[in-house]
Amino acid sequence: MSEGAGRKAVEVPVHDALIVGAGFAGLYQLHALRDRLGLSAHVLEAADGVGGTWWWNRYPGARCDSESHAYAFYFSEELLQSWEWSERYPEQPEILRYLNHVADRLDLRRDITFNARVTSARWDAEDNLWHVTTADGQRWAATWLITAVGCLSSANIPDIPGRDDFAGRWVHTGHWPHEGVDFAGLRVGMIGTGSTGIQAAPVIAGSAAHLTVFQRTANYSIPARNTPLTSAFKRWAKENAAEIREAMHATGNGHPWPVSDRSALEVDDAEREAIFRAAWEKGGLRLRATFRDILTDRRANDTAAEFIRARIREVVKDPTTAAMLTDIDHPFATKRPPIDTGYFETFNRDNVTLVDVRADPIERITPTGIRLKSGAEHALDIIVFATGFDAMTGALLRMGITGRDGLTLSDAWAAGPRTQLGLQVAGFPNMFTVTGPGSPSVLTNMPVAIEQHVEWITDCIAAMRARGVATIEPTEEACDRWVAHVNDVANATLMPQAGHSWYLGANVPGKPRVFMPYAGGMPAYRRVCDEVAAAGYEGFVTTGARTRVTA
Ligand code: NAP
Repeated sequence: MSEGAGRKAVEVPVHDALIVGAGFAGLYQLHALRDRLGLSAHVLEAADGVGGTWWWNRYPGARCDSESHAYAFYFSEELLQSWEWSERYPEQPEILRYLNHVADRLDLRRDITFNARVTSARWDAEDNLWHVTTADGQRWAATWLITAVGCLSSANIPDIPGRDDFAGRWVHTGHWPHEGVDFAGLRVGMIGTGSTGIQAAPVIAGSAAHLTVFQRTANYSIPARNTPLTSAFKRWAKENAAEIREAMHATGNGHPWPVSDRSALEVDDAEREAIFRAAWEKGGLRLRATFRDILTDRRANDTAAEFIRARIREVVKDPTTAAMLTDIDHPFATKRPPIDTGYFETFNRDNVTLVDVRADPIERITPTGIRLKSGAEHALDIIVFATGFDAMTGALLRMGITGRDGLTLSDAWAAGPRTQLGLQVAGFPNMFTVTGPGSPSVLTNMPVAIEQHVEWITDCIAAMRARGVATIEPTEEACDRWVAHVNDVANATLMPQAGHSWYLGANVPGKPRVFMPYAGGMPAYRRVCDEVAAAGYEGFVTTGARTRVTA
Protein backbone atom coordinates (compact mmCIF):
# COMPACT_ATOMS: atom_id res chain seq x y z
CA MET A 1 0.00 0.00 0.00
CA SER A 2 1.13 3.51 -0.60
CA GLU A 3 0.55 6.85 0.96
CA GLY A 4 -1.58 9.48 -0.73
CA ALA A 5 -0.21 12.32 -2.85
CA GLY A 6 1.23 15.19 -0.85
CA ARG A 7 1.84 13.06 2.26
CA LYS A 8 5.22 12.70 3.88
CA ALA A 9 6.73 9.26 3.39
CA VAL A 10 5.48 6.65 5.79
CA GLU A 11 6.86 3.14 5.54
CA VAL A 12 3.74 1.50 6.88
CA PRO A 13 0.48 0.25 5.44
CA VAL A 14 -1.84 3.25 5.26
CA HIS A 15 -5.55 2.56 5.35
CA ASP A 16 -8.57 4.77 5.37
CA ALA A 17 -9.68 3.09 8.57
CA LEU A 18 -8.17 0.84 11.20
CA ILE A 19 -10.62 -1.04 13.40
CA VAL A 20 -9.43 -2.62 16.64
CA GLY A 21 -11.23 -5.84 17.53
CA ALA A 22 -13.00 -8.58 15.59
CA GLY A 23 -16.04 -9.23 17.74
CA PHE A 24 -19.59 -8.27 16.78
CA ALA A 25 -18.63 -4.59 16.55
CA GLY A 26 -15.41 -4.91 14.56
CA LEU A 27 -16.86 -7.36 12.06
CA TYR A 28 -19.84 -5.17 11.23
CA GLN A 29 -17.70 -2.02 11.18
CA LEU A 30 -15.35 -3.61 8.66
CA HIS A 31 -18.24 -4.69 6.46
CA ALA A 32 -19.91 -1.25 6.64
CA LEU A 33 -16.80 0.76 5.80
CA ARG A 34 -15.39 -1.60 3.20
CA ASP A 35 -18.50 -2.87 1.46
CA ARG A 36 -20.82 0.13 1.80
CA LEU A 37 -18.41 3.06 1.57
CA GLY A 38 -15.71 1.34 -0.46
CA LEU A 39 -12.97 2.33 1.99
CA SER A 40 -9.73 0.57 2.64
CA ALA A 41 -10.50 -0.75 6.11
CA HIS A 42 -8.49 -3.19 8.17
CA VAL A 43 -9.06 -4.93 11.49
CA LEU A 44 -6.37 -5.58 14.10
CA GLU A 45 -7.35 -8.37 16.49
CA ALA A 46 -5.33 -9.59 19.49
CA ALA A 47 -6.75 -13.13 19.38
CA ASP A 48 -6.08 -15.66 16.65
CA GLY A 49 -9.71 -15.79 15.57
CA VAL A 50 -12.85 -13.70 15.33
CA GLY A 51 -15.37 -13.55 18.18
CA GLY A 52 -14.17 -10.93 20.66
CA THR A 53 -15.63 -11.65 24.09
CA TRP A 54 -16.86 -15.01 22.83
CA TRP A 55 -13.36 -15.99 21.74
CA TRP A 56 -11.98 -15.36 25.24
CA ASN A 57 -14.80 -16.38 27.60
CA ARG A 58 -14.81 -20.16 27.27
CA TYR A 59 -15.46 -20.95 30.93
CA PRO A 60 -17.85 -23.81 31.77
CA GLY A 61 -21.47 -22.73 31.40
CA ALA A 62 -20.68 -19.61 29.30
CA ARG A 63 -23.90 -18.65 27.61
CA CYS A 64 -25.49 -15.37 26.57
CA ASP A 65 -28.44 -14.01 28.52
CA SER A 66 -30.00 -12.39 25.48
CA GLU A 67 -32.29 -14.80 23.70
CA SER A 68 -30.58 -16.23 20.66
CA HIS A 69 -33.05 -14.97 18.05
CA ALA A 70 -32.31 -11.44 19.31
CA TYR A 71 -28.58 -11.92 19.76
CA ALA A 72 -27.73 -11.59 16.12
CA PHE A 73 -27.16 -9.10 13.36
CA TYR A 74 -30.35 -7.74 11.88
CA PHE A 75 -28.79 -5.53 9.20
CA SER A 76 -28.56 -8.37 6.70
CA GLU A 77 -31.48 -10.46 5.56
CA GLU A 78 -29.00 -12.94 4.15
CA LEU A 79 -27.34 -13.44 7.54
CA LEU A 80 -30.69 -13.76 9.25
CA GLN A 81 -31.93 -16.36 6.83
CA SER A 82 -28.69 -18.34 6.63
CA TRP A 83 -28.32 -19.01 10.35
CA GLU A 84 -30.25 -21.16 12.76
CA TRP A 85 -29.83 -21.06 16.57
CA SER A 86 -30.34 -24.31 18.44
CA GLU A 87 -31.26 -23.15 21.96
CA ARG A 88 -33.21 -20.35 23.63
CA TYR A 89 -29.93 -18.85 24.93
CA PRO A 90 -26.88 -19.38 22.76
CA GLU A 91 -23.89 -21.11 24.30
CA GLN A 92 -20.40 -19.70 23.80
CA PRO A 93 -19.30 -22.24 21.15
CA GLU A 94 -22.46 -21.59 19.13
CA ILE A 95 -21.97 -17.80 19.23
CA LEU A 96 -18.38 -18.30 18.11
CA ARG A 97 -19.62 -20.46 15.22
CA TYR A 98 -22.13 -17.72 14.35
CA LEU A 99 -19.46 -15.02 14.24
CA ASN A 100 -17.24 -17.24 12.10
CA HIS A 101 -20.21 -17.74 9.81
CA VAL A 102 -20.63 -13.94 9.60
CA ALA A 103 -16.92 -13.51 8.81
CA ASP A 104 -17.13 -16.14 6.07
CA ARG A 105 -20.39 -14.96 4.51
CA LEU A 106 -19.19 -11.36 4.35
CA ASP A 107 -15.69 -12.40 3.31
CA LEU A 108 -14.15 -10.42 6.14
CA ARG A 109 -11.05 -12.46 7.01
CA ARG A 110 -8.93 -11.08 4.18
CA ASP A 111 -8.98 -7.70 5.90
CA ILE A 112 -8.25 -8.87 9.43
CA THR A 113 -4.81 -9.34 10.95
CA PHE A 114 -4.97 -11.75 13.89
CA ASN A 115 -2.51 -11.96 16.78
CA ALA A 116 -2.16 -8.20 16.50
CA ARG A 117 -2.57 -6.60 19.91
CA VAL A 118 -2.50 -2.81 19.69
CA THR A 119 0.03 -1.39 22.12
CA SER A 120 0.01 2.22 20.95
CA ALA A 121 -2.07 4.51 18.79
CA ARG A 122 -0.82 8.05 18.26
CA TRP A 123 -2.48 10.89 16.39
CA ASP A 124 -0.16 12.83 14.08
CA ALA A 125 -1.58 16.25 13.28
CA GLU A 126 0.99 16.82 10.53
CA ASP A 127 -0.36 14.12 8.28
CA ASN A 128 -3.76 13.71 9.93
CA LEU A 129 -3.15 10.04 10.53
CA TRP A 130 -3.40 7.64 13.41
CA HIS A 131 -0.12 5.73 13.77
CA VAL A 132 -0.71 2.37 15.38
CA THR A 133 1.77 -0.19 16.68
CA THR A 134 1.02 -3.79 17.54
CA ALA A 135 2.78 -5.95 20.15
CA ASP A 136 4.93 -7.64 17.50
CA GLY A 137 6.36 -4.23 16.51
CA GLN A 138 4.38 -3.93 13.30
CA ARG A 139 3.24 -0.42 12.39
CA TRP A 140 0.04 0.73 10.74
CA ALA A 141 -1.55 4.06 9.86
CA ALA A 142 -5.04 5.27 9.02
CA THR A 143 -7.18 8.38 8.77
CA TRP A 144 -9.88 6.89 11.00
CA LEU A 145 -9.34 4.82 14.13
CA ILE A 146 -12.32 2.86 15.36
CA THR A 147 -12.11 0.97 18.61
CA ALA A 148 -14.36 -2.07 18.71
CA VAL A 149 -12.74 -3.59 21.76
CA GLY A 150 -15.85 -4.56 23.72
CA CYS A 151 -17.02 -3.32 27.09
CA LEU A 152 -16.04 -6.40 29.06
CA SER A 153 -12.74 -7.56 27.66
CA SER A 154 -10.06 -6.43 30.07
CA ALA A 155 -9.85 -9.05 32.84
CA ASN A 156 -9.95 -7.90 36.47
CA ILE A 157 -7.62 -10.21 38.37
CA PRO A 158 -7.52 -9.02 41.97
CA ASP A 159 -4.08 -8.60 43.37
CA ILE A 160 -4.61 -10.85 46.38
CA PRO A 161 -1.39 -11.28 48.38
CA GLY A 162 0.31 -14.62 47.79
CA ARG A 163 -1.33 -15.33 44.43
CA ASP A 164 1.96 -16.16 42.79
CA ASP A 165 2.96 -18.53 45.60
CA PHE A 166 -0.06 -20.77 45.03
CA ALA A 167 1.24 -24.26 44.29
CA GLY A 168 -1.89 -25.19 42.34
CA ARG A 169 -3.21 -23.61 39.17
CA TRP A 170 -5.31 -20.46 38.84
CA VAL A 171 -7.39 -19.29 35.90
CA HIS A 172 -9.54 -16.26 35.09
CA THR A 173 -12.85 -17.00 33.39
CA GLY A 174 -12.17 -14.34 30.74
CA HIS A 175 -8.92 -16.06 29.70
CA TRP A 176 -10.14 -19.60 29.80
CA PRO A 177 -7.69 -22.21 28.42
CA HIS A 178 -8.82 -23.36 24.99
CA GLU A 179 -8.18 -26.99 25.84
CA GLY A 180 -10.59 -26.66 28.79
CA VAL A 181 -9.95 -27.45 32.44
CA ASP A 182 -10.56 -30.90 33.87
CA PHE A 183 -11.87 -30.45 37.40
CA ALA A 184 -12.30 -34.16 38.10
CA GLY A 185 -10.99 -35.04 41.55
CA LEU A 186 -9.96 -31.44 42.30
CA ARG A 187 -10.78 -29.11 45.15
CA VAL A 188 -11.84 -25.95 43.36
CA GLY A 189 -12.11 -22.47 44.85
CA MET A 190 -14.13 -19.95 42.85
CA ILE A 191 -13.99 -16.25 43.72
CA GLY A 192 -16.88 -14.18 42.42
CA THR A 193 -20.65 -14.48 42.15
CA GLY A 194 -21.50 -12.20 39.22
CA SER A 195 -23.09 -13.46 35.98
CA THR A 196 -19.99 -15.50 35.23
CA GLY A 197 -19.58 -17.22 38.60
CA ILE A 198 -23.31 -17.92 38.71
CA GLN A 199 -23.13 -19.65 35.33
CA ALA A 200 -19.91 -21.53 36.07
CA ALA A 201 -20.62 -22.84 39.59
CA PRO A 202 -23.23 -25.50 38.71
CA VAL A 203 -21.11 -26.87 35.88
CA ILE A 204 -17.88 -26.95 37.90
CA ALA A 205 -19.68 -28.55 40.84
CA GLY A 206 -20.82 -31.31 38.49
CA SER A 207 -17.28 -32.59 37.94
CA ALA A 208 -15.11 -31.27 40.81
CA ALA A 209 -14.37 -33.22 43.99
CA HIS A 210 -15.36 -30.11 45.89
CA LEU A 211 -16.29 -26.54 45.00
CA THR A 212 -15.89 -23.69 47.47
CA VAL A 213 -17.59 -20.49 46.33
CA PHE A 214 -16.10 -17.33 47.86
CA GLN A 215 -18.94 -14.79 47.87
CA ARG A 216 -18.26 -11.13 48.64
CA THR A 217 -21.63 -9.77 47.51
CA ALA A 218 -24.73 -11.93 47.37
CA ASN A 219 -26.57 -11.59 44.07
CA TYR A 220 -30.04 -11.93 42.64
CA SER A 221 -30.43 -14.47 39.87
CA ILE A 222 -33.36 -15.66 37.85
CA PRO A 223 -33.70 -19.08 36.22
CA ALA A 224 -32.85 -18.89 32.52
CA ARG A 225 -35.05 -21.85 31.63
CA ASN A 226 -32.93 -22.61 28.65
CA THR A 227 -34.39 -25.10 26.20
CA PRO A 228 -33.82 -26.31 22.64
CA LEU A 229 -35.70 -24.21 20.10
CA THR A 230 -38.53 -25.92 18.27
CA SER A 231 -38.64 -25.84 14.50
CA ALA A 232 -41.89 -23.87 14.78
CA PHE A 233 -40.11 -21.15 16.79
CA LYS A 234 -37.17 -21.06 14.38
CA ARG A 235 -39.55 -20.65 11.47
CA TRP A 236 -41.52 -17.95 13.32
CA ALA A 237 -38.30 -16.00 14.07
CA LYS A 238 -37.26 -16.08 10.42
CA GLU A 239 -40.65 -15.13 9.09
CA ASN A 240 -41.07 -12.31 11.59
CA ALA A 241 -37.58 -10.84 11.55
CA ALA A 242 -38.82 -7.37 10.65
CA GLU A 243 -41.26 -7.32 13.57
CA ILE A 244 -38.65 -8.65 15.98
CA ARG A 245 -36.22 -5.95 14.86
CA GLU A 246 -38.89 -3.31 15.32
CA ALA A 247 -39.67 -4.60 18.83
CA MET A 248 -35.98 -4.52 19.77
CA HIS A 249 -35.65 -0.96 18.49
CA ALA A 250 -38.72 0.14 20.46
CA THR A 251 -37.51 -0.92 23.90
CA GLY A 252 -34.96 0.81 26.11
CA ASN A 253 -32.89 -2.32 26.61
CA GLY A 254 -32.96 -3.63 23.05
CA HIS A 255 -34.65 -6.90 23.95
CA PRO A 256 -37.63 -8.04 21.90
CA TRP A 257 -40.23 -7.62 24.61
CA PRO A 258 -41.88 -4.46 25.96
CA VAL A 259 -41.44 -3.05 29.45
CA SER A 260 -44.81 -2.86 31.19
CA ASP A 261 -46.23 0.63 31.65
CA ARG A 262 -47.76 -0.29 35.02
CA SER A 263 -46.31 0.49 38.42
CA ALA A 264 -45.55 -2.38 40.79
CA LEU A 265 -47.33 -0.30 43.43
CA GLU A 266 -50.60 0.13 41.57
CA VAL A 267 -51.55 -3.55 41.74
CA ASP A 268 -52.47 -5.53 44.85
CA ASP A 269 -50.12 -8.08 46.38
CA ALA A 270 -51.83 -11.08 44.80
CA GLU A 271 -51.73 -9.65 41.28
CA ARG A 272 -48.12 -8.52 41.66
CA GLU A 273 -47.11 -11.95 42.93
CA ALA A 274 -48.87 -13.60 39.97
CA ILE A 275 -47.06 -11.31 37.51
CA PHE A 276 -43.67 -11.98 39.10
CA ARG A 277 -44.39 -15.69 39.21
CA ALA A 278 -45.30 -15.80 35.53
CA ALA A 279 -42.03 -14.01 34.68
CA TRP A 280 -40.09 -16.36 36.99
CA GLU A 281 -41.60 -19.38 35.27
CA LYS A 282 -40.94 -17.91 31.83
CA GLY A 283 -37.34 -17.29 32.92
CA GLY A 284 -34.65 -14.84 31.88
CA LEU A 285 -34.37 -11.08 31.96
CA ARG A 286 -38.10 -10.44 31.51
CA LEU A 287 -38.69 -10.15 35.24
CA ARG A 288 -37.04 -6.73 35.09
CA ALA A 289 -39.68 -5.63 32.59
CA THR A 290 -42.74 -6.69 34.60
CA PHE A 291 -43.29 -3.16 35.93
CA ARG A 292 -42.09 0.20 34.68
CA ASP A 293 -40.71 1.41 38.01
CA ILE A 294 -38.53 -1.48 39.17
CA LEU A 295 -35.40 0.49 38.40
CA THR A 296 -36.68 3.88 39.51
CA ASP A 297 -38.68 3.43 42.70
CA ARG A 298 -37.14 1.71 45.70
CA ARG A 299 -40.49 0.51 47.03
CA ALA A 300 -41.36 -1.03 43.66
CA ASN A 301 -37.91 -2.57 43.50
CA ASP A 302 -38.27 -4.03 47.00
CA THR A 303 -41.30 -6.03 45.87
CA ALA A 304 -39.24 -7.71 43.13
CA ALA A 305 -36.24 -8.15 45.43
CA GLU A 306 -38.35 -9.79 48.12
CA PHE A 307 -40.02 -12.07 45.57
CA ILE A 308 -36.59 -13.32 44.43
CA ARG A 309 -35.28 -13.75 47.98
CA ALA A 310 -38.34 -15.88 48.77
CA ARG A 311 -37.62 -18.11 45.75
CA ILE A 312 -33.97 -18.53 46.88
CA ARG A 313 -35.12 -19.54 50.37
CA GLU A 314 -37.47 -22.11 48.82
CA VAL A 315 -34.64 -23.71 46.88
CA VAL A 316 -31.71 -23.66 49.33
CA LYS A 317 -32.13 -26.27 52.06
CA ASP A 318 -29.48 -25.18 54.56
CA PRO A 319 -30.82 -22.08 56.39
CA THR A 320 -27.35 -20.62 57.04
CA THR A 321 -26.43 -20.88 53.38
CA ALA A 322 -29.82 -19.50 52.34
CA ALA A 323 -29.29 -16.54 54.69
CA MET A 324 -25.89 -15.82 53.09
CA LEU A 325 -27.34 -16.04 49.59
CA THR A 326 -30.27 -13.74 50.37
CA ASP A 327 -28.27 -11.13 52.30
CA ILE A 328 -28.20 -8.95 49.18
CA ASP A 329 -27.06 -5.37 49.74
CA HIS A 330 -28.33 -3.65 46.58
CA PRO A 331 -31.67 -3.19 44.83
CA PHE A 332 -32.61 -5.77 42.19
CA ALA A 333 -31.11 -5.14 38.72
CA THR A 334 -28.95 -2.23 39.86
CA LYS A 335 -26.08 -4.55 39.10
CA ARG A 336 -26.39 -6.47 35.88
CA PRO A 337 -28.91 -9.20 36.84
CA PRO A 338 -27.58 -12.69 36.16
CA ILE A 339 -29.71 -15.54 34.90
CA ASP A 340 -28.80 -19.09 35.76
CA THR A 341 -29.28 -22.79 35.31
CA GLY A 342 -29.41 -24.41 38.72
CA TYR A 343 -27.24 -21.90 40.59
CA PHE A 344 -29.04 -21.88 43.94
CA GLU A 345 -29.71 -25.63 43.67
CA THR A 346 -25.93 -26.12 43.50
CA PHE A 347 -25.66 -25.19 47.18
CA ASN A 348 -27.74 -28.24 48.09
CA ARG A 349 -24.96 -30.51 46.82
CA ASP A 350 -22.71 -32.26 49.33
CA ASN A 351 -19.60 -31.19 47.43
CA VAL A 352 -20.31 -27.43 47.49
CA THR A 353 -19.56 -24.90 50.23
CA LEU A 354 -20.40 -21.20 50.29
CA VAL A 355 -18.00 -18.89 52.13
CA ASP A 356 -18.95 -15.32 53.00
CA VAL A 357 -15.83 -13.25 52.37
CA ARG A 358 -17.60 -10.03 53.23
CA ALA A 359 -17.95 -11.24 56.84
CA ASP A 360 -14.53 -12.88 56.83
CA PRO A 361 -12.42 -11.40 54.01
CA ILE A 362 -9.74 -13.23 52.07
CA GLU A 363 -6.44 -12.44 53.75
CA ARG A 364 -4.10 -14.17 51.36
CA ILE A 365 -3.57 -16.99 48.95
CA THR A 366 -1.19 -19.55 50.46
CA PRO A 367 0.69 -22.29 48.58
CA THR A 368 -2.11 -24.69 49.49
CA GLY A 369 -5.27 -22.59 49.26
CA ILE A 370 -7.02 -19.50 50.57
CA ARG A 371 -6.70 -18.13 54.09
CA LEU A 372 -9.33 -15.82 55.55
CA LYS A 373 -8.84 -13.03 58.06
CA SER A 374 -10.21 -15.24 60.85
CA GLY A 375 -7.39 -17.69 60.13
CA ALA A 376 -9.74 -20.24 58.51
CA GLU A 377 -7.94 -22.10 55.70
CA HIS A 378 -9.54 -23.59 52.59
CA ALA A 379 -7.32 -26.18 50.94
CA LEU A 380 -7.53 -25.95 47.14
CA ASP A 381 -6.01 -27.49 44.03
CA ILE A 382 -7.22 -24.80 41.65
CA ILE A 383 -8.60 -21.25 41.97
CA VAL A 384 -11.08 -19.86 39.45
CA PHE A 385 -11.21 -16.08 39.33
CA ALA A 386 -14.75 -15.19 38.21
CA THR A 387 -13.90 -11.64 39.16
CA GLY A 388 -15.07 -9.77 36.10
CA PHE A 389 -13.54 -6.99 34.09
CA ASP A 390 -12.07 -3.54 34.13
CA ALA A 391 -15.25 -2.68 32.28
CA MET A 392 -15.89 -0.16 29.53
CA THR A 393 -12.62 1.77 29.83
CA GLY A 394 -10.03 -0.91 30.67
CA ALA A 395 -9.41 -2.19 27.15
CA LEU A 396 -9.29 1.36 25.73
CA LEU A 397 -6.84 2.60 28.33
CA ARG A 398 -4.55 -0.40 27.82
CA MET A 399 -4.10 0.49 24.14
CA GLY A 400 -1.74 3.42 24.76
CA ILE A 401 -3.84 5.99 22.90
CA THR A 402 -2.37 9.49 22.47
CA GLY A 403 -4.39 12.21 20.80
CA ARG A 404 -3.74 15.81 19.80
CA ASP A 405 -0.81 17.68 21.42
CA GLY A 406 0.40 14.56 23.21
CA LEU A 407 -2.78 14.18 25.28
CA THR A 408 -3.08 10.58 26.46
CA LEU A 409 -6.46 8.95 26.90
CA SER A 410 -5.44 8.05 30.47
CA ASP A 411 -4.91 11.75 31.24
CA ALA A 412 -8.07 12.82 29.43
CA TRP A 413 -10.03 10.28 31.48
CA ALA A 414 -8.15 10.65 34.77
CA ALA A 415 -11.38 11.58 36.55
CA GLY A 416 -13.48 9.08 34.56
CA PRO A 417 -14.43 8.72 30.90
CA ARG A 418 -15.61 11.85 29.07
CA THR A 419 -17.16 11.40 25.66
CA GLN A 420 -19.70 12.91 23.33
CA LEU A 421 -22.45 10.29 23.06
CA GLY A 422 -19.97 7.54 23.91
CA LEU A 423 -18.79 7.89 20.33
CA GLN A 424 -15.90 10.34 20.34
CA VAL A 425 -13.50 11.99 22.78
CA ALA A 426 -12.38 15.64 22.71
CA GLY A 427 -8.70 15.83 21.75
CA PHE A 428 -8.79 12.56 19.79
CA PRO A 429 -9.65 13.50 16.21
CA ASN A 430 -11.13 10.87 13.90
CA MET A 431 -11.29 8.28 16.68
CA PHE A 432 -14.61 6.56 17.29
CA THR A 433 -15.44 4.21 20.16
CA VAL A 434 -18.06 1.60 19.30
CA THR A 435 -20.27 1.20 22.41
CA GLY A 436 -17.93 3.48 24.33
CA PRO A 437 -18.58 4.79 27.85
CA GLY A 438 -21.51 7.19 27.81
CA SER A 439 -23.50 5.03 25.37
CA PRO A 440 -26.24 2.52 26.31
CA SER A 441 -24.04 -0.50 25.45
CA VAL A 442 -24.02 -2.86 28.43
CA LEU A 443 -27.52 -1.84 29.52
CA THR A 444 -28.88 -3.25 26.28
CA ASN A 445 -28.95 -6.34 24.15
CA MET A 446 -25.50 -5.62 22.71
CA PRO A 447 -26.00 -6.31 18.98
CA VAL A 448 -28.72 -3.65 18.87
CA ALA A 449 -26.40 -1.04 20.38
CA ILE A 450 -23.53 -2.15 18.16
CA GLU A 451 -25.56 -1.92 14.95
CA GLN A 452 -26.70 1.60 15.83
CA HIS A 453 -23.15 2.76 16.61
CA VAL A 454 -21.57 1.20 13.55
CA GLU A 455 -24.22 2.75 11.31
CA TRP A 456 -23.87 6.20 12.91
CA ILE A 457 -20.06 6.07 12.62
CA THR A 458 -20.26 4.90 9.01
CA ASP A 459 -22.71 7.67 8.11
CA CYS A 460 -20.51 10.22 9.87
CA ILE A 461 -17.39 9.14 7.97
CA ALA A 462 -19.35 9.19 4.71
CA ALA A 463 -20.59 12.70 5.47
CA MET A 464 -17.08 13.93 6.35
CA ARG A 465 -15.68 12.49 3.14
CA ALA A 466 -18.46 14.07 1.12
CA ARG A 467 -17.71 17.43 2.73
CA GLY A 468 -13.96 17.02 2.20
CA VAL A 469 -13.33 17.29 5.92
CA ALA A 470 -9.94 16.25 7.33
CA THR A 471 -10.81 15.76 10.98
CA ILE A 472 -13.78 15.61 13.29
CA GLU A 473 -13.82 15.57 17.07
CA PRO A 474 -16.24 16.72 19.74
CA THR A 475 -15.91 19.98 21.64
CA GLU A 476 -15.04 19.93 25.33
CA GLU A 477 -18.38 21.63 26.02
CA ALA A 478 -20.33 18.91 24.19
CA CYS A 479 -18.50 16.22 26.20
CA ASP A 480 -19.19 18.09 29.47
CA ARG A 481 -22.86 18.38 28.57
CA TRP A 482 -23.14 14.70 27.67
CA VAL A 483 -21.31 13.48 30.79
CA ALA A 484 -23.62 15.64 32.94
CA HIS A 485 -26.65 14.23 31.12
CA VAL A 486 -25.42 10.63 31.53
CA ASN A 487 -25.06 11.30 35.27
CA ASP A 488 -28.47 12.95 35.57
CA VAL A 489 -30.16 10.06 33.81
CA ALA A 490 -28.35 7.49 35.97
CA ASN A 491 -29.23 9.40 39.13
CA ALA A 492 -32.90 9.25 38.20
CA THR A 493 -32.61 5.45 38.54
CA LEU A 494 -31.62 3.23 41.45
CA MET A 495 -28.53 1.98 39.63
CA PRO A 496 -25.92 4.18 41.32
CA GLN A 497 -27.07 2.64 44.62
CA ALA A 498 -25.21 -0.60 43.89
CA GLY A 499 -21.94 0.22 45.62
CA HIS A 500 -19.67 -2.44 44.11
CA SER A 501 -21.00 -2.24 40.60
CA TRP A 502 -18.73 -2.36 37.57
CA TYR A 503 -21.17 0.12 35.95
CA LEU A 504 -19.52 2.60 38.36
CA GLY A 505 -15.99 1.28 37.98
CA ALA A 506 -16.19 0.39 41.68
CA ASN A 507 -14.95 -3.18 41.19
CA VAL A 508 -11.42 -2.06 40.27
CA PRO A 509 -9.33 -0.53 43.07
CA GLY A 510 -8.32 3.06 42.26
CA LYS A 511 -10.69 3.43 39.28
CA PRO A 512 -12.70 6.70 39.32
CA ARG A 513 -16.30 6.12 40.38
CA VAL A 514 -18.37 7.41 37.50
CA PHE A 515 -21.55 5.81 36.20
CA MET A 516 -20.38 4.87 32.71
CA PRO A 517 -23.25 3.57 30.56
CA TYR A 518 -26.14 5.76 29.36
CA ALA A 519 -29.29 4.67 31.20
CA GLY A 520 -31.80 6.61 29.11
CA GLY A 521 -32.54 3.66 26.82
CA MET A 522 -31.87 2.98 23.16
CA PRO A 523 -34.81 4.85 21.56
CA ALA A 524 -33.97 8.13 23.36
CA TYR A 525 -30.29 7.67 22.63
CA ARG A 526 -30.88 6.85 18.97
CA ARG A 527 -33.00 10.00 18.68
CA VAL A 528 -30.23 12.20 20.12
CA CYS A 529 -27.62 10.67 17.81
CA ASP A 530 -29.87 11.19 14.79
CA GLU A 531 -30.59 14.79 15.77
CA VAL A 532 -26.88 15.54 16.22
CA ALA A 533 -26.15 14.18 12.73
CA ALA A 534 -29.12 15.97 11.16
CA ALA A 535 -27.90 19.24 12.67
CA GLY A 536 -24.60 18.86 10.81
CA TYR A 537 -22.81 17.06 13.66
CA GLU A 538 -23.66 19.54 16.34
CA GLY A 539 -21.16 19.49 19.20
CA PHE A 540 -18.35 18.36 16.93
CA VAL A 541 -15.67 20.46 15.24
CA THR A 542 -14.28 19.67 11.84
CA THR A 543 -11.11 20.92 10.24
CA GLY A 544 -9.54 21.40 6.89
CA ALA A 545 -9.50 19.68 3.58
CA ARG A 546 -8.80 16.04 3.55
CA THR A 547 -6.01 14.43 1.56
CA ARG A 548 -7.34 11.27 0.06
CA VAL A 549 -5.66 8.05 1.03
CA THR A 550 -5.47 5.19 -1.40
CA ALA A 551 -4.76 1.68 -0.28
P1 NAP B 1 -18.80 -9.15 37.82
O1 NAP B 1 -20.23 -9.00 37.60
O2 NAP B 1 -17.96 -7.94 37.98
O3 NAP B 1 -18.63 -10.08 39.10
C1 NAP B 1 -17.37 -10.26 39.67
C2 NAP B 1 -17.52 -11.00 40.98
O4 NAP B 1 -16.24 -11.15 41.55
C3 NAP B 1 -18.38 -10.24 41.99
O5 NAP B 1 -19.10 -11.16 42.74
C4 NAP B 1 -17.32 -9.56 42.83
O6 NAP B 1 -17.74 -9.22 44.12
C5 NAP B 1 -16.27 -10.62 42.88
N1 NAP B 1 -14.95 -10.10 43.19
C6 NAP B 1 -14.19 -9.26 42.44
N2 NAP B 1 -13.03 -9.01 43.07
C7 NAP B 1 -13.06 -9.71 44.24
C8 NAP B 1 -12.16 -9.85 45.31
N3 NAP B 1 -10.99 -9.21 45.33
N4 NAP B 1 -12.52 -10.64 46.35
C9 NAP B 1 -13.71 -11.27 46.34
N5 NAP B 1 -14.61 -11.18 45.34
C10 NAP B 1 -14.29 -10.40 44.30
O7 NAP B 1 -18.10 -10.01 36.68
P2 NAP B 1 -18.72 -11.18 35.76
O8 NAP B 1 -19.51 -12.11 36.57
O9 NAP B 1 -17.63 -11.72 34.93
O10 NAP B 1 -19.75 -10.42 34.85
C11 NAP B 1 -19.40 -9.20 34.20
C12 NAP B 1 -20.44 -8.88 33.18
O11 NAP B 1 -20.22 -9.67 32.03
C13 NAP B 1 -21.85 -9.19 33.56
O12 NAP B 1 -22.40 -8.25 34.44
C14 NAP B 1 -22.51 -9.23 32.20
O13 NAP B 1 -22.74 -7.95 31.71
C15 NAP B 1 -21.44 -9.92 31.39
N6 NAP B 1 -21.71 -11.36 31.38
C16 NAP B 1 -22.80 -11.79 30.72
C17 NAP B 1 -23.10 -13.12 30.71
C18 NAP B 1 -24.30 -13.53 29.98
O14 NAP B 1 -24.67 -12.97 28.97
N7 NAP B 1 -24.98 -14.53 30.45
C19 NAP B 1 -22.31 -14.04 31.36
C20 NAP B 1 -21.20 -13.59 32.04
C21 NAP B 1 -20.90 -12.25 32.04
P3 NAP B 1 -18.39 -7.78 44.40
O15 NAP B 1 -19.74 -7.82 43.78
O16 NAP B 1 -18.38 -7.68 45.87
O17 NAP B 1 -17.48 -6.77 43.75
